[in-house]
Amino acid sequence: MNPTPSVYEEPARKLTVLDHADVLVIGGGPGGIGAAVAAARNGARTILLERFGSFGGTWTSGILSAIMPFPFVRGIFSEVIEGLKARLSWRQWTWRDVTTYGEGGTYDTEGAKRVLDALVLDAGVIPYFFTQFAEVIRTGNRLDGVIVESKEGRQVIWAKQIIDASGDGDVCARAGVPFEIGREFDGATQPMTMIFKMAGVDTEVAQAYQKEDPDFKRACQLAKQRGELTAPQEGILTSPNPRKGEWNFNTTRILGRDATKVGDVTAAMIEARRQVEGTATFVRKYVPGFENAVVSETAPHIGVRESRRIAADYTVTADDIIQVTSFEDCIARGDWYIDIHNPTGAGTKHIHPPAGKWYEIPYRSIRARGIDNLLIASRCIDSTHEAHAAIRITPQVMAIGQGAGTAAALCVKQGLDSTRQLDPALLRKTLRNQGAFV
Ligand SMILES: Cc1cc2nc3c(=O)[nH]c(=O)nc-3n(C[C@H](O)[C@H](O)[C@H](O)COP(=O)(O)OP(=O)(O)OC[C@H]3O[C@@H](n4cnc5c(N)ncnc54)[C@H](O)[C@@H]3O)c2cc1C
Repeated sequence: MNPTPSVYEEPARKLTVLDHADVLVIGGGPGGIGAAVAAARNGARTILLERFGSFGGTWTSGILSAIMPFPFVRGIFSEVIEGLKARLSWRQWTWRDVTTYGEGGTYDTEGAKRVLDALVLDAGVIPYFFTQFAEVIRTGNRLDGVIVESKEGRQVIWAKQIIDASGDGDVCARAGVPFEIGREFDGATQPMTMIFKMAGVDTEVAQAYQKEDPDFKRACQLAKQRGELTAPQEGILTSPNPRKGEWNFNTTRILGRDATKVGDVTAAMIEARRQVEGTATFVRKYVPGFENAVVSETAPHIGVRESRRIAADYTVTADDIIQVTSFEDCIARGDWYIDIHNPTGAGTKHIHPPAGKWYEIPYRSIRARGIDNLLIASRCIDSTHEAHAAIRITPQVMAIGQGAGTAAALCVKQGLDSTRQLDPALLRKTLRNQGAFV
């Protein structure tokens, strides 16, 4: 017998039940928090499952530290911004063209953790940290619940409605919902990026230099010519955060790796930390104000811009974004542009919707295809590679989450057999009454 067979049949065994929910949200990032808080506020017994030890996803475990402008997002997301401001954890951007799109800024990740704890608990959501979704329990077109893994082993959570907010669409993929990854012609995705922070920066000096040499492009070119900078980037995306003398860097680039493969993510973490060291050495040598700065934090999980895009009842396209299509079942709005970090090298492609206008995300683009009680509340909603590159920013994803959570709670309240039976007019009216801009 082959001593290392390529498959192993796990013996059947009985699992204990951890809990039961009206609405079970898997993944505590911006989308999952929006979904869980909305579902709980609409009367559902709501569980929020998260594999790490804080809410926020890329906001906290990815130490993102930046929120793009949000002129057309209100509702639960506005409460996050108010909470950050109240904790002195918000610094508004006065930087680049982003200010033409409205308020955006940087935030302190520790402040964000407390804001999100309070938001989730005050809504009455039941949280489970350090609990990873492992498998679905499916009967026909419905999910009866999921199997989770934690220190307690494998356990079951029963649920009437399930919301996939895992970023990568793990639940949908395990449930057999079709998905796509990457560009249509070669499957390549936007690069992963490890966010990091540097402390000990002379912010005034660095900002004065940034005005002369935006994104430090001139300095980068010089360092590249001398072979002192090897990451696939033409500039350095960086800005100060609310902590005095600390700056965030969104600048490493990992190409050709699949965020749903554990070996790829491991390699990406290690390569990204190598790039962090190279970038820190570069700014210390070339950028005034950084001479004495040190790397103060790297993200516990590398940032994933793009992985699976899950099939639902409608695919949002680049045309919908650029021509700002309106939908009668709109659950969220946004105006962030198609923002594609080159999947195969340096450079970033931008395609803008008309200034001052919003595009819309329809409810039908979050109803997982072929399943009656599974919604998507994450960057992985049904969209093309290009449309995804606009939708994915955190305010918009949180608004989509609010739409998903509200829909799931209404389905439970009305005893509907399928998310497709929900009246979109009722959904939008409920969202509007709760502060959402739809
Ligand atoms: C490098 C980078 C820079 C970005 N820059 C900006 C920016 O400046 N401004 C902006 O607004 N947006 C930015 N974005 C986009 C934004 O951060 C993401 O698109 C957004 O966080 C997506 O939210 P989400 O809730 O779908 O997923 P995530 O934030 O990824 O959250 C998913 C959550 O699910 C959990 N999870 C995953 N799988 C499981 C599982 N199997 N079981 C249990 N839990 C699970 C994760 O731990 C995580 O907490 C950036 C993204 C990246 C990667």
